[in-house]
Amino acid sequence: MIGFTLKRFAQFASIRNRLILAFSALLGLLLALSVMTSHRLETLGASMHEFVDQPARLALLAERANQQSQYAAIQLLRLLQTPDRDQRIPLYAQMDAAMTASDAAIASLAHADSRAYSQSQIALATELRQRYGALFQETVELIEIQGLTQARAHFEQYTDPALNALLDETLRLTERQQALMNLEVEHFEQSATATRLQIVAITPSALVLGALLALLISRSIVIPIGEAVAVAQTIAAGNYNENIPRGRSPEMQVLLRALALMRKNIVIREERITRLAYVDSLTNLPNRAHFMEALATASAGEHGALVILNIDRFAPINNALGHAVGDRMLSEIAARLLACVAAPHLVARLGGDEFVILYEGSDISAISGYIQMILDALRRPMRLDGQRLDIDVSLGVVFYPDDGNDPTALLRRADLAIKAAKRRHDSYAFAEEFEDVVQHEQLTLLGEMRDALVRNEFVIHYQPKLNLADARISGVEALLRWQHPLRGLIAPDLFIPFAEQTGFIREITPWLIREVVSHATQWWRDGLEIVASVNISALDLLNPALITRIQQLLIQTSLPAEMLCLEITESALMDDPELAHTHLLALAGLGVKLSIDDYGAGNASLSYVRTLPVHELKIDRSFITQVDQQRKSAAIVRSTIVLCRELGLSVVAEGVETASELDWLKINHCDLAQGFGIGRPMPVHELYGWLDITHTGAQER
Ligand code: C2E
Ligand code: CA
Ligand code: CA
Repeated sequence: MIGFTLKRFAQFASIRNRLILAFSALLGLLLALSVMTSHRLETLGASMHEFVDQPARLALLAERANQQSQYAAIQLLRLLQTPDRDQRIPLYAQMDAAMTASDAAIASLAHADSRAYSQSQIALATELRQRYGALFQETVELIEIQGLTQARAHFEQYTDPALNALLDETLRLTERQQALMNLEVEHFEQSATATRLQIVAITPSALVLGALLALLISRSIVIPIGEAVAVAQTIAAGNYNENIPRGRSPEMQVLLRALALMRKNIVIREERITRLAYVDSLTNLPNRAHFMEALATASAGEHGALVILNIDRFAPINNALGHAVGDRMLSEIAARLLACVAAPHLVARLGGDEFVILYEGSDISAISGYIQMILDALRRPMRLDGQRLDIDVSLGVVFYPDDGNDPTALLRRADLAIKAAKRRHDSYAFAEEFEDVVQHEQLTLLGEMRDALVRNEFVIHYQPKLNLADARISGVEALLRWQHPLRGLIAPDLFIPFAEQTGFIREITPWLIREVVSHATQWWRDGLEIVASVNISALDLLNPALITRIQQLLIQTSLPAEMLCLEITESALMDDPELAHTHLLALAGLGVKLSIDDYGAGNASLSYVRTLPVHELKIDRSFITQVDQQRKSAAIVRSTIVLCRELGLSVVAEGVETASELDWLKINHCDLAQGFGIGRPMPVHELYGWLDITHTGAQER
């Protein structure tokens, strides 16, 4: 029962109480030890007193009895030798006193409580004393009655032997008492030794007991602290599911509760951080980082597909209706996508108006169904701010491992597929349709392109632009090619997107513009009025150095600014519309011509183009192909031409391949035409010859 209580106490007592208990126990132990020692010493002293005092007194009494008896006997002998009666009288008194003292001593002995004497011994001594006393009296009486001689005879015959017997007995009593005293001293010595041994024995056990107590107490503190340390270590290791013990002592309970609270807060904070790092805050969908991790895991294992989704005309909608509506539109799209994508497939937002869906384990037949579901879901009209919005999307599809394993490359290929889909005015495109792009991507390492620039492997081909009103070549478009030492002439579609993604285009374009300006200057000096067009990517347009570079080139070469035209796609304007607009204004300020490329393939509307300081609009090839036969294309091109005329923009029809397409364009008052039907892109040195042969050559000034 006590053991159990102690155990309970050890378990649940506070560390403070345990320490108090331990020190109190140790102090108590020491106190008990000192009390016991002093008590023992006191007892020893008392018994010593008792042992020594009583026998000494008794021995003294016996000796006194003996002495007084002897003294009385000596007086008696003196009496026997004193014939004069008068002289004897004082002796009587002394004899009486000695006898009385002897009697008193013996009587005291008789009354004393002594272990040394038996009652019979005392009785014997008393009897001997009485006999001696009686004979002594008889001797004295004989002195007075019968004279000294008679008395001396009586003394010698009776009294002296009685005295000797008495003296023998009292001596025996004294000796006995002394022997007893010796015995008591021996006892005392034994008892003192025993006490010393006891103290010697108790002290180490008290020490051992104290040490044991200290060990137990320290263990009862150290072990729980060790537990707390272990808990802290599991938290440090990021293991948040381990059970945290409740703790036994109140202090440990408080400490462990604090650790549990700390862990909970860490978990909450980590979740928040992870959320910030992995979740898109607008749509609550996984973000790009999260998606890339999921894709890396997925593409390392099974097969599957990746569908990138881009909203058509998002930038103009965002600009026109405001960012709040744009955000709500993105949230609505996220919700619709979530509704049609079930686990284990994953929807994420890559950023801007771009979403992506990872279909693990899906093949092409399944994907076709999924694509239709997505298109159906997103094409349902939306109601935002009371306005009805019809949106359309473009999808790029890539399969792993067929189209690659590397997540970044997969994403890039899906991106290229989207661009292709937009260009073709399709809802979606598969990356596998662009097989050569992959091969080429593997080939075009950034280093190889850099080498190409140094080794002058980039070449410019010029494609003529025909002015339909006067049938002369009024311009050319510079189109880049890569004269690869092993692969031959590589088309720009195969390396420009990569150069744009890696930023290397910023090194190519300055070189290109320098070359084109130098060619254009030559034509100008040769008296040919040919506007040279250069394609500018988004990165170039957003680079302020481009403006100063062009300005310097124009000053250096004295080429009239209007002889240089920059072609910009709408998508290049959308990356940062405000900065793009500022730079366009600066370029227009230089007098350089500006052209909107691939019009119709992207999101831009004419009302948006109208706000830009541009001079020319190039209608995308997809509208021009068979424009003479396709009524829908014809309607679009015709109305675009009419609108551009009203806006003061000249219209270029791209990709004119047939004579009937060209005729149709002439009839419909298109300003300029460009295409294989007029002339293919050609190296600069072939241009003069071509101009001569076709007789539609640029008019000399
Ligand atoms: P783009 O600016 O739309 O250039 C016109 C493309 O259409 C050229 O392809 C041209 O060869 C092609 N083309 C012209 N007429 C016809 C035709 O009648 N039928 C067909 N099927 N195609 C025709 P290219 O040279 O392969 O260039 C492709 C794209 O690469 C260009 O499209 C442009 O976006 C880009 N690009 C070319 N050179 C440069 C450059 O120097 N800088 C930049 N940033 N991009 C360039
Ligand atoms: Ca172009
Ligand atoms: Ca174009």
